[in-house]
Amino acid sequence: MSASAALKEPNVSRPAVRRRKGPGAVARRGASLVRAIDLALDGQLGADEYAARLRRYVADHDAPSTDAVAFGRLCEVIFAQGIGFAIVARKREELASAFGGFAPAAVAALTDADVHRLMGEPIIRNGAKIRACIENARRWNLVSGGYFSGIARMAADDDHASGWPALAARVRTDFVRLNETGARQTLKRWGFFTAFGHPGTRRVFERLGLIEAGESPAAGQLVVGSIARALSRDPYAVEGACALFAAIGACRPQPRCTQCPLSDRCPHASADG
Ligand code: SF4
Repeated sequence: MSASAALKEPNVSRPAVRRRKGPGAVARRGASLVRAIDLALDGQLGADEYAARLRRYVADHDAPSTDAVAFGRLCEVIFAQGIGFAIVARKREELASAFGGFAPAAVAALTDADVHRLMGEPIIRNGAKIRACIENARRWNLVSGGYFSGIARMAADDDHASGWPALAARVRTDFVRLNETGARQTLKRWGFFTAFGHPGTRRVFERLGLIEAGESPAAGQLVVGSIARALSRDPYAVEGACALFAAIGACRPQPRCTQCPLSDRCPHASADG
Protein backbone atom coordinates (compact mmCIF):
# COMPACT_ATOMS: atom_id res chain seq x y z
CA MET A 1 0.00 0.00 0.00
CA SER A 2 1.35 3.46 -0.89
CA ALA A 3 1.81 6.09 1.80
CA SER A 4 -1.01 8.22 0.41
CA ALA A 5 -3.34 5.24 0.28
CA ALA A 6 -2.40 4.36 3.85
CA LEU A 7 -3.44 7.84 4.96
CA LYS A 8 -6.91 7.30 3.57
CA GLU A 9 -7.12 3.86 5.14
CA PRO A 10 -6.44 3.96 8.89
CA ASN A 11 -4.40 1.11 10.27
CA VAL A 12 -7.11 -1.03 11.86
CA SER A 13 -4.58 -3.26 13.60
CA ARG A 14 -4.04 -0.47 16.13
CA PRO A 15 -6.76 0.73 18.45
CA ALA A 16 -8.69 3.53 16.77
CA VAL A 17 -8.64 6.84 18.58
CA ARG A 18 -11.94 7.47 20.23
CA ARG A 19 -12.50 11.16 20.59
CA ARG A 20 -15.79 10.27 22.26
CA LYS A 21 -13.73 9.58 25.34
CA GLY A 22 -14.04 13.28 25.95
CA PRO A 23 -11.94 16.41 25.78
CA GLY A 24 -9.90 15.58 28.88
CA ALA A 25 -8.69 12.29 27.42
CA VAL A 26 -7.90 13.97 24.09
CA ALA A 27 -5.90 16.67 25.89
CA ARG A 28 -3.92 14.10 27.88
CA ARG A 29 -3.21 11.96 24.83
CA GLY A 30 -2.32 15.07 22.81
CA ALA A 31 0.04 16.24 25.55
CA SER A 32 1.84 12.91 25.50
CA LEU A 33 2.17 13.07 21.70
CA VAL A 34 3.46 16.66 21.76
CA ARG A 35 6.13 15.63 24.30
CA ALA A 36 7.24 12.95 21.82
CA ILE A 37 7.29 15.57 19.05
CA ASP A 38 9.47 17.77 21.30
CA LEU A 39 11.96 14.95 21.74
CA ALA A 40 12.06 14.24 18.01
CA LEU A 41 12.63 17.90 17.08
CA ASP A 42 15.15 18.38 19.89
CA GLY A 43 17.13 15.52 18.38
CA GLN A 44 16.77 16.81 14.83
CA LEU A 45 17.44 20.53 15.38
CA GLY A 46 19.26 20.60 18.71
CA ALA A 47 17.51 21.85 21.83
CA ASP A 48 18.66 25.47 21.46
CA GLU A 49 17.59 25.85 17.83
CA TYR A 50 14.25 24.13 18.50
CA ALA A 51 13.56 26.41 21.48
CA ALA A 52 14.55 29.48 19.43
CA ARG A 53 12.16 28.53 16.61
CA LEU A 54 9.30 28.05 19.06
CA ARG A 55 10.06 31.40 20.70
CA ARG A 56 9.96 33.09 17.29
CA TYR A 57 6.63 31.45 16.47
CA VAL A 58 5.11 32.57 19.75
CA ALA A 59 6.54 36.09 19.39
CA ASP A 60 5.07 36.41 15.87
CA HIS A 61 1.60 35.77 17.32
CA ASP A 62 1.71 37.46 20.71
CA ALA A 63 -0.84 40.20 21.19
CA PRO A 64 0.89 43.22 19.60
CA SER A 65 2.49 45.61 22.07
CA THR A 66 1.96 48.71 19.90
CA ASP A 67 -0.22 49.94 17.08
CA ALA A 68 2.78 49.82 14.73
CA VAL A 69 3.44 46.16 15.57
CA ALA A 70 -0.21 45.32 14.87
CA PHE A 71 -0.19 47.23 11.59
CA GLY A 72 3.13 45.64 10.61
CA ARG A 73 1.59 42.18 11.01
CA LEU A 74 -1.30 43.15 8.73
CA CYS A 75 1.26 44.26 6.14
CA GLU A 76 3.22 41.02 6.55
CA VAL A 77 0.09 39.01 5.78
CA ILE A 78 -0.32 41.01 2.57
CA PHE A 79 3.34 40.62 1.58
CA ALA A 80 3.17 36.87 2.32
CA GLN A 81 0.39 36.30 -0.21
CA GLY A 82 1.61 33.87 -2.82
CA ILE A 83 5.15 33.61 -1.41
CA GLY A 84 4.67 32.44 2.21
CA PHE A 85 5.65 33.86 5.59
CA ALA A 86 9.17 32.43 5.59
CA ILE A 87 10.30 34.83 2.84
CA VAL A 88 8.64 37.76 4.61
CA ALA A 89 10.37 36.80 7.87
CA ARG A 90 13.74 36.89 6.10
CA LYS A 91 12.97 40.39 4.81
CA ARG A 92 11.48 41.66 8.06
CA GLU A 93 14.21 44.16 8.97
CA GLU A 94 14.37 45.59 5.46
CA LEU A 95 10.59 45.93 5.31
CA ALA A 96 10.41 47.63 8.70
CA SER A 97 13.17 50.03 7.70
CA ALA A 98 11.55 50.85 4.33
CA PHE A 99 8.14 51.41 5.94
CA GLY A 100 9.23 53.58 8.87
CA GLY A 101 8.82 50.82 11.44
CA PHE A 102 5.27 50.33 10.13
CA ALA A 103 4.01 53.34 12.05
CA PRO A 104 0.63 53.75 10.31
CA ALA A 105 0.96 57.56 10.04
CA ALA A 106 4.34 57.21 8.31
CA VAL A 107 3.07 54.57 5.89
CA ALA A 108 -0.08 56.58 5.10
CA ALA A 109 2.11 59.55 4.11
CA LEU A 110 4.01 57.61 1.44
CA THR A 111 3.56 59.00 -2.08
CA ASP A 112 3.75 57.60 -5.60
CA ALA A 113 7.39 58.73 -5.70
CA ASP A 114 8.03 56.75 -2.51
CA VAL A 115 6.46 53.66 -4.07
CA HIS A 116 8.81 54.07 -7.04
CA ARG A 117 11.76 54.40 -4.63
CA LEU A 118 10.67 51.37 -2.58
CA MET A 119 10.61 49.25 -5.75
CA GLY A 120 14.39 49.70 -5.76
CA GLU A 121 14.87 48.72 -2.11
CA PRO A 122 15.88 45.20 -1.02
CA ILE A 123 12.31 44.38 0.06
CA ILE A 124 9.52 42.42 -1.57
CA ARG A 125 9.19 44.44 -4.76
CA ASN A 126 5.52 44.14 -5.51
CA GLY A 127 3.93 47.48 -6.30
CA ALA A 128 0.37 46.26 -5.75
CA LYS A 129 1.23 44.96 -2.26
CA ILE A 130 3.11 48.18 -1.37
CA ARG A 131 0.15 50.29 -2.49
CA ALA A 132 -2.25 48.05 -0.53
CA CYS A 133 -0.23 48.66 2.66
CA ILE A 134 -0.34 52.42 2.07
CA GLU A 135 -4.09 52.37 1.48
CA ASN A 136 -4.56 50.20 4.57
CA ALA A 137 -2.52 52.64 6.66
CA ARG A 138 -4.92 55.43 5.59
CA ARG A 139 -7.87 53.25 6.59
CA TRP A 140 -6.16 52.29 9.85
CA ASN A 141 -5.84 55.95 10.80
CA LEU A 142 -9.56 56.60 10.31
CA VAL A 143 -10.06 55.05 13.75
CA SER A 144 -9.13 57.56 16.42
CA GLY A 145 -6.14 56.20 18.34
CA GLY A 146 -5.47 53.60 15.62
CA TYR A 147 -7.42 50.58 14.47
CA PHE A 148 -5.95 48.14 16.96
CA SER A 149 -7.02 50.30 19.90
CA GLY A 150 -10.63 49.45 19.03
CA ILE A 151 -10.15 45.74 18.47
CA ALA A 152 -11.20 44.61 21.96
CA ARG A 153 -14.46 46.55 21.62
CA MET A 154 -15.07 45.00 18.19
CA ALA A 155 -14.38 41.52 19.60
CA ALA A 156 -16.62 41.93 22.63
CA ASP A 157 -19.76 40.59 20.95
CA ASP A 158 -18.03 37.93 18.85
CA ASP A 159 -17.44 34.26 19.63
CA HIS A 160 -13.92 32.85 20.03
CA ALA A 161 -15.20 29.24 20.02
CA SER A 162 -16.55 29.77 16.49
CA GLY A 163 -13.31 31.38 15.29
CA TRP A 164 -14.27 35.07 15.60
CA PRO A 165 -16.57 35.13 12.53
CA ALA A 166 -17.84 38.70 12.95
CA LEU A 167 -14.35 40.07 13.57
CA ALA A 168 -12.99 38.26 10.50
CA ALA A 169 -15.76 39.71 8.35
CA ARG A 170 -15.11 43.19 9.74
CA VAL A 171 -11.33 43.07 9.15
CA ARG A 172 -11.88 41.74 5.65
CA THR A 173 -14.06 44.68 4.69
CA ASP A 174 -12.08 47.34 6.57
CA PHE A 175 -8.88 46.70 4.59
CA VAL A 176 -7.92 46.08 0.98
CA ARG A 177 -6.25 42.98 -0.46
CA LEU A 178 -7.47 40.72 2.34
CA ASN A 179 -9.54 37.66 1.49
CA GLU A 180 -11.12 35.43 4.15
CA THR A 181 -7.86 33.57 4.78
CA GLY A 182 -5.85 36.79 4.92
CA ALA A 183 -8.29 38.36 7.39
CA ARG A 184 -8.07 35.27 9.59
CA GLN A 185 -4.28 35.12 9.37
CA THR A 186 -4.17 38.76 10.43
CA LEU A 187 -6.40 38.09 13.43
CA LYS A 188 -4.24 35.12 14.36
CA ARG A 189 -1.19 37.37 14.32
CA TRP A 190 -3.02 39.79 16.57
CA GLY A 191 -3.43 37.04 19.18
CA PHE A 192 -6.90 35.72 18.22
CA PHE A 193 -5.90 32.09 18.44
CA THR A 194 -9.04 30.41 17.14
CA ALA A 195 -9.33 32.64 14.06
CA PHE A 196 -7.10 30.39 11.92
CA GLY A 197 -5.53 26.96 12.22
CA HIS A 198 -2.04 26.28 10.91
CA PRO A 199 -2.51 23.82 8.01
CA GLY A 200 0.49 21.70 9.04
CA THR A 201 -0.63 21.39 12.64
CA ARG A 202 -4.07 20.50 11.46
CA ARG A 203 -2.68 17.75 9.22
CA VAL A 204 -0.68 16.25 12.10
CA PHE A 205 -3.70 16.38 14.41
CA GLU A 206 -5.94 14.71 11.86
CA ARG A 207 -3.47 11.92 11.23
CA LEU A 208 -3.02 11.37 14.96
CA GLY A 209 -6.79 11.30 15.45
CA LEU A 210 -6.81 14.33 17.75
CA ILE A 211 -9.29 16.04 15.45
CA GLU A 212 -11.49 14.71 12.71
CA ALA A 213 -11.29 15.64 9.02
CA GLY A 214 -14.50 17.63 8.90
CA GLU A 215 -13.93 19.47 12.14
CA SER A 216 -13.96 23.26 11.94
CA PRO A 217 -10.64 25.13 12.18
CA ALA A 218 -11.83 26.79 15.39
CA ALA A 219 -12.67 23.42 16.96
CA GLY A 220 -9.17 22.23 16.05
CA GLN A 221 -7.69 25.29 17.71
CA LEU A 222 -9.67 24.55 20.86
CA VAL A 223 -8.06 21.09 20.94
CA VAL A 224 -4.62 22.72 20.58
CA GLY A 225 -5.58 25.00 23.47
CA SER A 226 -6.66 22.09 25.67
CA ILE A 227 -3.33 20.33 25.03
CA ALA A 228 -1.47 23.54 25.84
CA ARG A 229 -3.31 23.77 29.15
CA ALA A 230 -2.44 20.14 29.93
CA LEU A 231 1.23 20.99 29.28
CA SER A 232 1.06 24.44 30.95
CA ARG A 233 2.32 25.98 27.71
CA ASP A 234 1.37 28.82 25.43
CA PRO A 235 -1.03 27.42 22.77
CA TYR A 236 1.08 29.04 20.05
CA ALA A 237 4.07 26.99 21.30
CA VAL A 238 2.09 23.75 20.92
CA GLU A 239 0.86 24.81 17.48
CA GLY A 240 4.37 25.85 16.46
CA ALA A 241 5.86 22.50 17.55
CA CYS A 242 3.33 20.56 15.50
CA ALA A 243 3.73 22.92 12.53
CA LEU A 244 7.49 22.25 12.60
CA PHE A 245 6.85 18.51 12.84
CA ALA A 246 4.66 18.87 9.73
CA ALA A 247 7.24 20.93 7.84
CA ILE A 248 10.60 19.38 8.68
CA GLY A 249 9.78 16.40 10.93
CA ALA A 250 8.31 13.04 10.03
CA CYS A 251 4.73 14.11 9.32
CA ARG A 252 5.29 15.96 6.04
CA PRO A 253 2.70 15.94 3.25
CA GLN A 254 4.28 12.61 2.25
CA PRO A 255 4.75 11.20 5.77
CA ARG A 256 7.86 9.31 6.86
CA CYS A 257 6.06 6.93 9.16
CA THR A 258 8.87 4.39 9.40
CA GLN A 259 11.09 7.13 10.91
CA CYS A 260 8.33 8.57 13.12
CA PRO A 261 8.54 8.21 16.90
CA LEU A 262 4.74 8.34 17.05
CA SER A 263 4.11 5.46 14.65
CA ASP A 264 3.13 2.98 17.38
CA ARG A 265 0.43 5.39 18.56
CA CYS A 266 -0.74 6.81 15.22
CA PRO A 267 -3.88 5.38 13.63
CA HIS A 268 -2.69 6.53 10.21
CA ALA A 269 0.84 5.11 10.37
CA SER A 270 1.97 3.44 7.19
CA ALA A 271 4.49 0.62 7.02
CA ASP A 272 5.60 1.97 3.61
CA GLY A 273 6.27 5.60 4.50
S1 SF4 B 1 3.13 7.80 12.00
FE1 SF4 B 1 4.01 9.85 12.25
S2 SF4 B 1 4.53 10.49 10.17
FE2 SF4 B 1 3.10 8.78 9.98
S3 SF4 B 1 1.08 9.75 9.77
FE3 SF4 B 1 1.43 9.26 11.96
S4 SF4 B 1 2.28 11.14 12.86
FE4 SF4 B 1 2.48 11.32 10.63
